[in-house]
Amino acid sequence: MNRDLLIQELRKQSENTWDIIVIGGGATGLGVALDAVSRGYKTLLLEQSDFAKGTSSRSTKLVHGGVRYMAQGDLQLVMEALHERGLMIKNAPHLIINQDFIIPVYNLWDSLIYTAGLKFYDLLAGRLSLGKSYFINRETTMSRLPMLNPKGLRGGIVYHDGKFDDSRMSVALAKACIDRGGIVLNYIKVISLLKNSSGKINGVIALEKETGEEFSLKARVVINATGVFTDIISRMDNPKSKPTIKTSQGVHIVIDKSFLQSNSAIMIPKTSDGRVLFAIPWYNEILIGTTDTPVENVSMEPVALGKEIDFILNTARNYLIKPPKKEDILSIFAGLRPLAADPGNPASTREVSRRHKITLSSSGLLSITGGKWTTYRRMAEETIDKAIKAGFIVKRKCISSTLRLISNVNSCHNTRFEIYGDGASEIEQMIDENPSLGVPFDKRLPYTKAEIIWICRNEMPQTIEDILARRTRSLFLNARASSDIAADIAGLMAKELGYDSIWQKEQLESYNKLVMNYI
Ligand SMILES: Cc1cc2nc3c(=O)[nH]c(=O)nc-3n(C[C@H](O)[C@H](O)[C@H](O)COP(=O)(O)OP(=O)(O)OC[C@H]3O[C@@H](n4cnc5c(N)ncnc54)[C@H](O)[C@@H]3O)c2cc1C
Repeated sequence: MNRDLLIQELRKQSENTWDIIVIGGGATGLGVALDAVSRGYKTLLLEQSDFAKGTSSRSTKLVHGGVRYMAQGDLQLVMEALHERGLMIKNAPHLIINQDFIIPVYNLWDSLIYTAGLKFYDLLAGRLSLGKSYFINRETTMSRLPMLNPKGLRGGIVYHDGKFDDSRMSVALAKACIDRGGIVLNYIKVISLLKNSSGKINGVIALEKETGEEFSLKARVVINATGVFTDIISRMDNPKSKPTIKTSQGVHIVIDKSFLQSNSAIMIPKTSDGRVLFAIPWYNEILIGTTDTPVENVSMEPVALGKEIDFILNTARNYLIKPPKKEDILSIFAGLRPLAADPGNPASTREVSRRHKITLSSSGLLSITGGKWTTYRRMAEETIDKAIKAGFIVKRKCISSTLRLISNVNSCHNTRFEIYGDGASEIEQMIDENPSLGVPFDKRLPYTKAEIIWICRNEMPQTIEDILARRTRSLFLNARASSDIAADIAGLMAKELGYDSIWQKEQLESYNKLVMNYI
């Protein structure tokens, strides 16, 4: 992942026609680009900010079938997602962990209904099941979740789902595209669509954000994978196009692991207002969320509302014997769900299906919206199949179901650097040669100097935020600690990538402003 070389290549290709240009570098766009490039199409992906800067770094970190959707009766969605969960674990074993969840139960009816429901969940997963679900009595539940409030507790149901690092998964997808000959670039914004004399879309105009360089790029098909920004791109195609997205905000808080003292996660299937809430061990902390609040305006940096934080804390208080308070929060983050539903639809965002939708405009803009991180691969396959069916590109077979995101599974397992995939051994070697690089930057965060240097050299970070928020998860794990190490990160990055002191100062100012949203 060498950005300068990729931009040079983009310039060289300016006279040529791409088979596919993907707009948007979140889970959806990166999945589409990888599907396309692995089928052999000449593929370009442009992301206006950093990879996964939007929704795709702000998920609950679950690779799941969606127990909740089963309760809503959407069995097909659950089955598809469970199948994709299985494939994702096989193809990116370095980024996805088999996580056990416990649903605490307080009466016989809930014990029966959730045990039966989760047995059915296992059945739907078939041979890609991650482990059987089962009932545990009150004593076993308390021994596995010592911080759970025992009042009225009858027992728990254990089940399994996947847990992952969403933004690291995005980088792995970007790297896999580039390894296969695709061009994937961050900080290049599509500002308009090109059309031929018959009004059909045949490319994009894009702007490199740092230099202002403009690119005019031709393509057989342009794919709009811009999440909550989908309708903005659709209006570039047709200013009168109707809104297609309903947006809902979800908030998470992160607290110290002492509040849970367990490797098991808790799933609360029905909170006071009918939502689902998770408390999940994530890296060295506990992630709790999420909410479901309809929002009108979309932004790259959504901000958690006071009432959302109160809801999470109040719910957690009912279940934990050491109730977390506002001052215990290490980080707060908000994300926007791009729900594929008519904004005029009166159904609450909680009830709107998490299914995806693929649409083709009369001028040939192919848009893919909705869905989940877990189903990104299937969404991508269907999108490229649709481009083939519409006659934009010649038919080629999809191979993504067996496409590994790491070349040697055994090389990285069980090392603390496994999240860097094939890079893990290089980081270890750097530390072997210079042990001072293996010391964590800050005892509140799990990251070392070696990782930051390796990231600068291999993962296209352009800002300190890219490093602190998405290549590492410092901002999400402990916002204040991330701010405390920001100056050191800026110094290291400047040295590696050749930036001056003015750049460092500007970076620090803008990072410290951003951190306020997470505190
Ligand atoms: C709170 C929350 C929790 C969730 N939890 C889970 C979970 O646990 N498991 C799960 O499977 N799913 C989960 N999801 C769903 C999942 O995160 C999303 O479905 C997925 O991340 C959406 O990805 P996307 O690529 O469509 O959108 P995004 O990640 O938002 O990507 C769109 C990208 O398009 C870019 N873009 C926009 N305009 C332009 C332009 N003009 N030029 C170039 N680029 C542009 C944006 O910068 C952005 O990066 C959750 C969602 C939320 C909100």
